[in-house]
Amino acid sequence: MSTTSGSTSADKPLDFIRQIVDQDQKSGKHPTPVTRFPPEPNGFLHIGHAKSICLNFGISNEFGGRCHLRFDDTNPSKEEIEYVESIKQDVKWLGFDWQDNLFFASDYFDKLYEFAEQLIKRGKAYVCDLSAEEIRRYRGTLTEPGTDSPYRNRSEEENLELFRKMKDGVFADGSRVLRAKIDMSSTAIVMRDPVLYRILKTSHHRTGDKWCIYPMYDFTHCLSDMLEQISHSLCTLEFQDNRLLYDWVLDSLETPCHPRQIEFARLNLTYTVMSKRKLLQLVEENHVESWDDPRMLTISGLRRRGYTPRSIRNFCNLIGIGKKQSWIDMGVLENAVRDDLNETAPRVMGVIEPLKVVIDNYPEDQTEEISAQNHPQKPELGSRSLPFSRELYIEKNDFMEDPPRKFFRLGPGREVRLRYGYYITCVSYEKDADGKVTLLHCTYDPETRGGSSPDGRKVKGTIHWVSAKHAVDGDIHLYDRLFNVEHPDADKEVDFKSHLNPHSRDIVTGCKLEPSLGSIDAGVQVQFERQGYFCLDSVLSGPGKPVFNRVVTLRDSWARMNKQT
Ligand code: ATP
Ligand code: MG
Repeated sequence: MSTTSGSTSADKPLDFIRQIVDQDQKSGKHPTPVTRFPPEPNGFLHIGHAKSICLNFGISNEFGGRCHLRFDDTNPSKEEIEYVESIKQDVKWLGFDWQDNLFFASDYFDKLYEFAEQLIKRGKAYVCDLSAEEIRRYRGTLTEPGTDSPYRNRSEEENLELFRKMKDGVFADGSRVLRAKIDMSSTAIVMRDPVLYRILKTSHHRTGDKWCIYPMYDFTHCLSDMLEQISHSLCTLEFQDNRLLYDWVLDSLETPCHPRQIEFARLNLTYTVMSKRKLLQLVEENHVESWDDPRMLTISGLRRRGYTPRSIRNFCNLIGIGKKQSWIDMGVLENAVRDDLNETAPRVMGVIEPLKVVIDNYPEDQTEEISAQNHPQKPELGSRSLPFSRELYIEKNDFMEDPPRKFFRLGPGREVRLRYGYYITCVSYEKDADGKVTLLHCTYDPETRGGSSPDGRKVKGTIHWVSAKHAVDGDIHLYDRLFNVEHPDADKEVDFKSHLNPHSRDIVTGCKLEPSLGSIDAGVQVQFERQGYFCLDSVLSGPGKPVFNRVVTLRDSWARMNKQT
């Protein structure tokens, strides 16, 4: 894995796919490369899909080509219009544009049917009456060849008649299929007379009840690519064997255009699962709230969590495209958003677990405005004004009753700097019946306004704070990784859900936030100084009741933890 930091594709050597596209462009074979992103609308897109989107749309942008968004909607039993809409939204949000090139495989059903009849007429397809179970048995194994179906040698006329009857709804679901006539002893199992069409008396979200036979993926995909004049059909490595079938279908039909399928390694990310089936299970069994739960590695979950499109694009660019299966550590994705937000997110102050402080020598009714920079390294991001008054909140863990010497925060008699404010010294504290510290009494040094002392007195610690009477109340959701092991679905004997992290979402209520956070928009990221990056949750926040999601901590706590163990 490469470890260079967020460089752009412009200063990186071309990956092996871009090299091919580049050569084909230079040689004049494909002056205008055409790629496509072909999701099946049976779930929400996840971070793995982002890799494919960035590759396909990236190539089209870089080489002046086109990238089609094509829904591979050939399985009506699992597909829904809700998924189509979410996929469109996610691709757009990632920053890509298919322009006029939005397609649906279902738009080709008439043409695909014609192609299937042509295959029959060329003696390259037949109607088979074996059951699904029998087809499986006849198929053979990796070590043993398959056996010919007894229906393999039907005449062209009989095949055409049966296939038309299949289309006309004469036969029951599962009673017959159309199969390619290739080679039952091929070393590639996909070539052992694969099924091309099956009977499925199910309504389709776009074609309604027009069809009761539906084409299979391998038949549909290559022909859809061909019909759209795709030049480079990019897919993940598990389709390597299917390339034989891809080419066989196009060769058998002698199509005028023959796209080139090229496989690359899929994205595998630690501490998550990436199959739509498993993500759906998490949703349906209420382990998460929804597809866009901020803990989900779906694009919509990442968006709601507060990831930026640029951080995801940078991540995809950083991990690159290769031919070898590998794992990417979740920390790489988290670092990508950390790096991006470090540059752009305004700094604010929010107290997650508040402890009240009374500044005994500060006038009771006084409020003053203190200027605070929005980004200490970027003066161009300006400043804001923070109210300061006699009663403040600080973070509970910034005080210790009996602190060790190296604790540079508050303790009895200790002095600390309030960020952008004054030096304060703790003079006493109050506790409740359970021994919990409930209030600190401090004094402030009026000479230290702005955070430095004219007498050159140094204090080591600086802590964040908010003025009590001006604070905005809010809840904070501290999100963490959804699973607590690197490979939750590695062991097929163990339910991946047994590895769910019980602390993937800790909800903290009664947080005290600086006033500017009362009017922030959902989806705008900020850094809570010393705490991490946060953004207002678009779903859970209500008027006067902000809920902030932690996008990511300031540092990689998992890396530190792993080093210690
Ligand atoms: P899943 O395995 O999650 O169900 P899928 O491959 O069935 O995903 P599709 O909707 O068919 O989902 O995928 C659309 C495109 O996204 C395909 O070209 C597929 O190769 C690609 N893709 C899916 N998962 C990944 C991944 N983890 N890394 C890279 N590309 C992926
Ligand atoms: Mg798929």
